[in-house]
Amino acid sequence: MIMMFIPLSVRATTLQDLYDELSNLESSYNAAKNKANMTQAEINKVRASITTIENEITQAQNDIVQAEKDIKKSEEEIAKRKDETNQMLKYLQIANSKGSSMIEYIFDAEDYTDLIYRYSVVTQLSEANKKLMDELTVLISELETKKANLKTKQIELSNKKKELQNKSTLLQLQYQKENDSGLNIAEQIAAKKKNIKYYESIGCKRSSDITTCNGIPAVTGWTYPLASFRQSSNYGWDENRYHYAVDLGTPEGSTVRAVGPGKVIFAGSVGYKSSCYSSYTGQYYSDCHCGGYVIQILHTYNGQEYVSLYMHLINSYVGYGTRVSGGQAIGTSGGGTQEISKWHDHCTAGAHLHFTMSKGPNLIGSSGVKGNTFDPVRFFPAMRGIGSTL
Ligand SMILES: [Zn+2]
Repeated sequence: MIMMFIPLSVRATTLQDLYDELSNLESSYNAAKNKANMTQAEINKVRASITTIENEITQAQNDIVQAEKDIKKSEEEIAKRKDETNQMLKYLQIANSKGSSMIEYIFDAEDYTDLIYRYSVVTQLSEANKKLMDELTVLISELETKKANLKTKQIELSNKKKELQNKSTLLQLQYQKENDSGLNIAEQIAAKKKNIKYYESIGCKRSSDITTCNGIPAVTGWTYPLASFRQSSNYGWDENRYHYAVDLGTPEGSTVRAVGPGKVIFAGSVGYKSSCYSSYTGQYYSDCHCGGYVIQILHTYNGQEYVSLYMHLINSYVGYGTRVSGGQAIGTSGGGTQEISKWHDHCTAGAHLHFTMSKGPNLIGSSGVKGNTFDPVRFFPAMRGIGSTL
């Protein structure tokens, strides 16, 4: 048997440390939330400014329309006055040369004073018209200036609006980022709380080292589960199936050892099916236990929990809850005819140990489901692929 030791010097993590980490996370979460709220307030302010500017733009547009109307009205008024004056002047000319009702009006005067008066009325009428026309021309010029100014203002406002819209977009992105950061922290908080709950459920006190308060001494170096083997399958995709474990070829009855100190969290036969097909014999069977007898052991290593799994065992020397030391014999390997006849495990194609590991304290599920499992080569360098040996 080969033992492998990995030297370790890690400061103990206590349950109190987890609480402190939780409290730090909660502070960060609140800070992120406050930041996001402030950004949101800023966004609201910018949006309010945009609304104000939009109202101002609408007002300017209405004012322009009004100015255009006023200009048109004044132009019409001028045209009218021009027409009236022309009519009047024409009338006067006609009156002077040929005589008509206007000359009648003038010469119907009762006396000379009245005649002078009547003549001046006619003249003043045309002069008043001219004065009004001049005033209207000034008004039009003023209105044109006003309209031009309004158009300039409208352009300025549109530019300001664009500027604010860009600012709003940037703030929106900033808010998204801050909010995401808050959500990310919230996830970490949930995970930390779950962690704390787990350690409390196994009886850890605030001051306890979490890697030992479950009564399991920390792994200081991993031990191979077999004294020797020839690997017959890879972890992951294995020719025609997903197989989240390695198969270690070894004669039936080989001693299987715990890979590290730990606590047995599962020991029993698994995978009952009322019928199954054996690729080993090419026959169908009833009353199958696919996988046979299985042991799973909980370990702590480097402040982290791991589970190791051993499948297709013939015999087991441990039961649920048994505390084992690293390298302790826990059973004998199967996978061949002895184990098949004992456990009715028809899901094996020859003598081997099916072995895998997973991160976290949870039981490992079916070999076709990855879960938190990982290639054991990480801790057992000799398990580097099909054909490698120990
Ligand atoms: Zn296997």
